[in-house]
Amino acid sequence: MRVIMAGLYIHIPFCKRRCVYCDFYSNTDMSLKNQYVEALACEMRARRDEFLKEPVTTLYFGGGTPSQLDESDFVRVFRVISEVCSPSDWKEITIEANPDDLSLDYIRMLKRFPFNRISIGVQSFFDADLSFLNRRHTVAQAIEAVRNCRAAGLDNISIDLMYGLPGQTLEQWNENLSVALHLKPRHLSCYHLTYEEGTTLYKRLRTGQIREVNEEDSVAMFSLLIDRLREAGYEHYEISNFALAGFRSQHNSSYWHDKPYIGIGASAHSYNRQSRQWNVSDIREYIRQARIGEFNPEKEIIDEDTRYNDAVITALRTSEGLSLLRLEHCFGKERTEYCVEQAKPFIASGKLILENGNIRLSRSGIFVSDSIMSSLMFVDDKD
Ligand code: SF4
Repeated sequence: MRVIMAGLYIHIPFCKRRCVYCDFYSNTDMSLKNQYVEALACEMRARRDEFLKEPVTTLYFGGGTPSQLDESDFVRVFRVISEVCSPSDWKEITIEANPDDLSLDYIRMLKRFPFNRISIGVQSFFDADLSFLNRRHTVAQAIEAVRNCRAAGLDNISIDLMYGLPGQTLEQWNENLSVALHLKPRHLSCYHLTYEEGTTLYKRLRTGQIREVNEEDSVAMFSLLIDRLREAGYEHYEISNFALAGFRSQHNSSYWHDKPYIGIGASAHSYNRQSRQWNVSDIREYIRQARIGEFNPEKEIIDEDTRYNDAVITALRTSEGLSLLRLEHCFGKERTEYCVEQAKPFIASGKLILENGNIRLSRSGIFVSDSIMSSLMFVDDKD
């Protein structure tokens, strides 16, 4: 069987400044950008054999801030990508961007490359939220960025929004959604703010400078999100993701459907169904490894239990849910019976729906998805 490769992820670990909630690996020192781009090329060439195994159908430039790269950087990166995998296989080529990088000239430059999708980190349509989050753009810049993309012909636009900010009201979130819908993006990713250990935001929470939004408000915001986007014609195809028909993120959908991917760059992860590996989260060390031609990723062999658990969790996040047929094909009858047995109480309470051989979250189940997923996971109690 010809397995379709999920795709190629390129990590650009540079940000002009750090947002207070972010725990992704990135650096504000841009002085190493040239050497880093060279290192990306070295890694792709060093892993050429992996690219030969399957066709790469999606490319995703994530970060960090890929829109900190300039034309000459993209020339160098695309030259090597075209060497290691065939452009005729590419279907979706996404770049993540910060709104204030998206001048008309910059987007016109992007259009000279194969990009056909852009994911814009808007986060909020309130300037006070943006400054609280230490984002470097304004609301006006975000709106202009969307307009510039359209004017330059890059109209497959996704917008990232964040809700559940300290002090945020349901009315403000509703207003955010109204502005977003007015802009008519083809895709929206909407995440509840999380407090990741080590971030500035986490410290502020721990020291009592800010308070988490309460559970009731969080649920109300999520509920409003689902209702408003559905009414506007968006398909709620993954817990945090919404798309107009035909505009689901193919790259991210592959992650949720257990397809392999290659991650290039500092801190980038790769997955091939048997193992997961990740590069060093240090730009200087990554460049050093590239110079001597010895990349040294950490690697984890994925055992059967982990693979089953990952498959259950990721499939349940999607609107299609978990195919029992596929589960049995991949993990056998015993594992599948275990899953169905664990799902039974949730099916009885209406939190899960069993239909046409698929188990999926119901509307009420979405709000307690974490506990449902952990109940369906396989825990080896021999230990
Ligand atoms: S721009 Fe993105 S990657 Fe950079 S600090 Fe902000 S959220 Fe993190």
